[in-house]
Amino acid sequence: MNLPPWSIGVFTSIDAGLGVHLEVAKELDIPSIQLHTPHAEGRTPQAAEKFLKQLDAFGIELTCVFGGFDGESYADIPTVERTVGLVPLASRAARLVEMKEISDFTRLLGCNTIGLHLGVVPHDTHSKEYAEIIEVTRQLCDHAKHNEQNVHLETGQESADALMQFITDMQRQNLFINFDPANMILYGMGEPIPALKQLGSLVRSIHCKDATWSQEPGKTWGAEVPLGKGQVDMRAYLTALKEIGYRGPLTIEREIPQDRERQKAEIQHAVELLVQLRKELLGQ
Ligand code: MG
Repeated sequence: MNLPPWSIGVFTSIDAGLGVHLEVAKELDIPSIQLHTPHAEGRTPQAAEKFLKQLDAFGIELTCVFGGFDGESYADIPTVERTVGLVPLASRAARLVEMKEISDFTRLLGCNTIGLHLGVVPHDTHSKEYAEIIEVTRQLCDHAKHNEQNVHLETGQESADALMQFITDMQRQNLFINFDPANMILYGMGEPIPALKQLGSLVRSIHCKDATWSQEPGKTWGAEVPLGKGQVDMRAYLTALKEIGYRGPLTIEREIPQDRERQKAEIQHAVELLVQLRKELLGQ
């Protein structure tokens, strides 16, 4: 990756997921993106080649491809537990196969990182269910390793303690974290800044997203809000990123596809805020 430290990024989508389209990144002069994987029919060598040409023409670098699956719903926290990631048993085997295909497609895109929401990992680390999630995640990590990729787990559904324990138990060298401070708040999983400091060098990519706490954290959703308007203190967040030595992209995630104009305007504001903080904190 040739990007300078703390390059601005944005979460994008092609035909699935809630990110902005690549053209928006271009229009806002954003130099890097994460990509929500396209649907299976869009994961062909021809599609990869076309996308790479677009990236090249726009001068944009792809830093991570996020997996996602049909049937996932973030409607509320119990629904997330039932439907998201590799945790739900009924879809686990098929989703592992699909996630491996996404890893292969990511390789076609020349990208060395895949990310995903693993789902809500069982809390009892001595349970059979926990051991099974370790096993399926190892299979994914080992497949990614063949593709010379790291796997980044999106934060949110676990506390920092639980995530540290999980990664220790995994015993895989290519497993890291995509830290999302807003998710810690949305899911009620702890204050984001101490969590970030605790996870430290395991954090290899991040989302810049903001949120407000729910009245009943962990039971009901908090609210996702524009960057700088919520309870993630952005200056403290970037200061902590500096402290842990994070130099990767600052990838803005704002998922309100029902209002594309507002989404773009809010991302533009987020870019301005991050550029200003970067200047203050990194002097560039
Ligand atoms: Mg996120």
